[in-house]
Amino acid sequence: MAAPRRCAPEQDVDEKSTETRTELAKGYEHKDVEARWYPFWKARGYFHGDEKDTSRPAFSIVLPPPNVTGSLHLGHALTATLQDVLIRWKKMSGFNTLWLPGTDHAGIATQMVVEKELKKTERKSRHDLGRAEFLKRVWAWKEQYGSRIGMQHQALGAALDWERERFTMDEGLSRAVREVFVRLHEEGLIYREKKLINWCPDCRTALSDLEVEHEEGHAGELWSFAYPLAEDGGEIVVATTRPETMLGDTAVAVHPEDPRYQHLIGKLVRHPITGREFPIVGDAILVDPEFGTGAVKVTPAHDFNDFEVGKRHDLEFLTVIGLDGKMTAAAGPLAGLDRFEARKEVKRLLEEKGLARGSKPNPMALGRCQRSQTILEPLLSDQWYVRIAPLAQPAIEAVEQGKTRFIPEQWTNTYNAWMRDIHDWCISRQLWWGHQIPAWYCPEGHVTVAREAPSACSTCQSATLRQDEDVLDTWFSSGLWPFSTMGWPEQTETLRTFYPTSVMETGHDIIFFWVARMMMMGLHFMGEVPFKTVYLHPMVRDGKGQKMSKTKGNVIDPLEITEKHGADALRFTLAALTAQGRDIKLANERIEGYRAFANKLWNASRFALMNLGEHRETGADPAAAAALSAADRWILARLQAAVNGTVAALEAFKFNEAANTVYAFVWHELCDWYIELSKEALTGEDEARKAATRGVLVHCLQTSYRLLHPFMPFITEELWHVLRAQVKAEAWPDSIMAASYPAAAAADEAADRAFAPVLGIVEAVRNIRGEMNIAWKNVLGQGEPVHVAVADPATHALLAGGEDRRVARLAGIEKLSLHLAAATPPVAASAVGVGPGFEVRVPLAGVIDVAAETGRIDKELAKVDADLALLEKKLSNPSFVERAPAEVVAKDRARVAELTEARQKLTNHRAMLMGADEPRRDSPMETTPPSIPTPAPEAAPAAPAPAPVAAAPVPAPAKKPAAKKAAKKPAKKVAKKPVAKKAVKKAAKPAKKAAKKAAKPAKAAKKVAKKPAKKAKKK
Ligand SMILES: [Zn+2]
Ligand SMILES: [Zn+2]
Repeated sequence: MAAPRRCAPEQDVDEKSTETRTELAKGYEHKDVEARWYPFWKARGYFHGDEKDTSRPAFSIVLPPPNVTGSLHLGHALTATLQDVLIRWKKMSGFNTLWLPGTDHAGIATQMVVEKELKKTERKSRHDLGRAEFLKRVWAWKEQYGSRIGMQHQALGAALDWERERFTMDEGLSRAVREVFVRLHEEGLIYREKKLINWCPDCRTALSDLEVEHEEGHAGELWSFAYPLAEDGGEIVVATTRPETMLGDTAVAVHPEDPRYQHLIGKLVRHPITGREFPIVGDAILVDPEFGTGAVKVTPAHDFNDFEVGKRHDLEFLTVIGLDGKMTAAAGPLAGLDRFEARKEVKRLLEEKGLARGSKPNPMALGRCQRSQTILEPLLSDQWYVRIAPLAQPAIEAVEQGKTRFIPEQWTNTYNAWMRDIHDWCISRQLWWGHQIPAWYCPEGHVTVAREAPSACSTCQSATLRQDEDVLDTWFSSGLWPFSTMGWPEQTETLRTFYPTSVMETGHDIIFFWVARMMMMGLHFMGEVPFKTVYLHPMVRDGKGQKMSKTKGNVIDPLEITEKHGADALRFTLAALTAQGRDIKLANERIEGYRAFANKLWNASRFALMNLGEHRETGADPAAAAALSAADRWILARLQAAVNGTVAALEAFKFNEAANTVYAFVWHELCDWYIELSKEALTGEDEARKAATRGVLVHCLQTSYRLLHPFMPFITEELWHVLRAQVKAEAWPDSIMAASYPAAAAADEAADRAFAPVLGIVEAVRNIRGEMNIAWKNVLGQGEPVHVAVADPATHALLAGGEDRRVARLAGIEKLSLHLAAATPPVAASAVGVGPGFEVRVPLAGVIDVAAETGRIDKELAKVDADLALLEKKLSNPSFVERAPAEVVAKDRARVAELTEARQKLTNHRAMLMGADEPRRDSPMETTPPSIPTPAPEAAPAAPAPAPVAAAPVPAPAKKPAAKKAAKKPAKKVAKKPVAKKAVKKAAKPAKKAAKKAAKPAKAAKKVAKKPAKKAKKK
């Protein structure tokens, strides 16, 4: 009997009613469930990291702050899921957890959004408004839209400590930024210099090297032209990929030892367009005499290599392209032209003058702006830099010393390589939105760097000061995130408790922007690494492994998924697909499959609630119950094994293994098997047995909820409350977030092993039914009994003690004959299933098409033969035998023995089926008709009768009888086996597809063999 309904699921539930939830809705409605719990957790303060609590170990993560302009995409969803899994798991495991949220002001991105808006609504540019007014508008925009991404994280269930939410431009963080700038400046690690930088003429700002995207293989052109010598006639031919830059040439360089040009060094050439004269110089560093003509034009103000040549030879630095990408006055007659127009014009003019000397295709790398895709222009300008090598060194050493560890480990090399070859970091940006550089200039040009606006120049005391107009690179402030968010530069309790953070979890695409810079800044200012472990998650791609992009139309929107299937389903899918070192292939079917998993758990819980009625078993210490059956002990052992597997996988950051372990237990073992097994006890007369079964069921469910909670927080909280209310388990905390995570312990392997053959036998018979297309209404063993042979006396005793009846019930058998023997007695025309330690024989007379069964055995034989050949080849390879670990070789050898035995049996059975009087022990070739090598089942029917078996598609037979069984069963049973099986297949399909394809013919034997000893599991 279900408890009376106290609150309808569809009504809006406030905190009071969430605490008293006592009944499950008929179907799982994720919207109802997910709306309930976030406010409840938040109100209870479960997300708050307690800086004063030093009694528990701390575990902290700072959320990489999403851009304030952002809307949740799959990358965010993945980051939030994995971090939430870690935080919830650690919290339940007794840690004092802190997960700190915030947003990044995202300089250029935000400025562009507001500029666009301004242009659209008021037809104004930021310059029309002026800096102060424009910044007001950006702040207003931030107030209005900046919390969107935070709300989206809440909808995902992210257990973030909102009391500590930060923004990179809030007062405290701005103070930290100024403090860092001033200190680094005082230490000589920040300087200002006129250098060439990568400039984006569209964004109108300098970019750091990391913001440059290199387009490889761009179809460039190497174009040659001649410079006439200023005196005595003659010319010198040079080549360029950017002809417009010749307007800024201030030298021609040749190799000093090149006999062709040696005599020209020191002479002048005349510019054919502007008329300037400049020298021919000898430079052994720049010039390769073998390349091109051996003479090189030099443009010191527009090329990184030439910049160095200019310094070496004290050349003029002539800027001919301006910040707007147009030619400057120095370009003479071409002034005002766009740089690409100027390119055409230069070529035209030189051709006209007869100075063009031909061209050839030149594939090249082209630098583009990461944001606008504009081709970048190297320009000369005053910028601020961080002298980075002294900061990089300690960050390299910290990783070498193991203070910070990368997972997957291969990223250590990437990190090291970049850090060892690091270039000074250009930190000034020509934007308005950001931290304005705390440097002031007096009319004399002196620079005063200070924490607060100074009243006078620190050099000449002039009171006329102007602050540097540039702002800092956005990544400058995010590099401080792990400690600035905890109150630095104050030495706060939060820093003492939660710094260094435990884990940095992020995408590998920002290892340099983010991870490396945090390492450098954290070590320099806190004296300690900012995080102990860096877990870099893979990229999310579509189901076919392609990059998601709007143009391809294959973008999956996490908000749509959450709407349709729920946050729990999305989270579980992402976790289950996150394997180390492999991109995530996200297909909608996967999400649907895991949504079905949530339904499954819901229905299993409803089944339990219905059977609990007024009973109050809480399942505390279930193993101690006196009336435990072998099935009870088996499921408890499997549960403990699942706990152990999940915890071990989480410890190793193997999110996929953790998720798949819980999934496999809940679906295949708890729902498919145990619930089915428990029905006999639950509907029987034995009250002690009934009570024990209810206790085991409750224990398995509530442990599964806790195990699953980090992955599926909402549904598990809902189920927890209802189950807790039903059994009046006062000892359970009144929120699953306050419950403890299941702990690893030794599993009862003996109980597992003892019961496995019972399941194996049932499965073997069901498989025979499936593959032979025997309907469930055809009860087996009506005349000749179904024979079951087991070799182990203990297994025999277990079956003889009543489990044989259970097997008969679950497999649809009337008479079952049990033998303590290695093999069943021969019966003409029978199907045989074999598993470790048992053999079943199903007489087929009257129910079966013998030819089809022969075909099945042939297929299985072919598979066994193929497996055997493969293993034997492997084992005959001396280098494998020598190099592989001994246990691997031993395992392979054992498998060869198993397969050889299976082969013998199959051969015998085939012979029997063909009507031979006695099992044949000779070569299989004699009994194998020549037509069988075709593996496809459809190709088998050489049989005369038009048997329906032959026509059935491959996967169908296994399902069909199951479905019929469902129809036949009493309606009372909620968690129906057949439904389960179908759905399992659906959910598990993508992952198992390949394996299944290969293993199909031998499925029965394989599946069974897998269970007890788990030795074949890793295949
Ligand atoms: Zn740009
Ligand atoms: Zn001054």
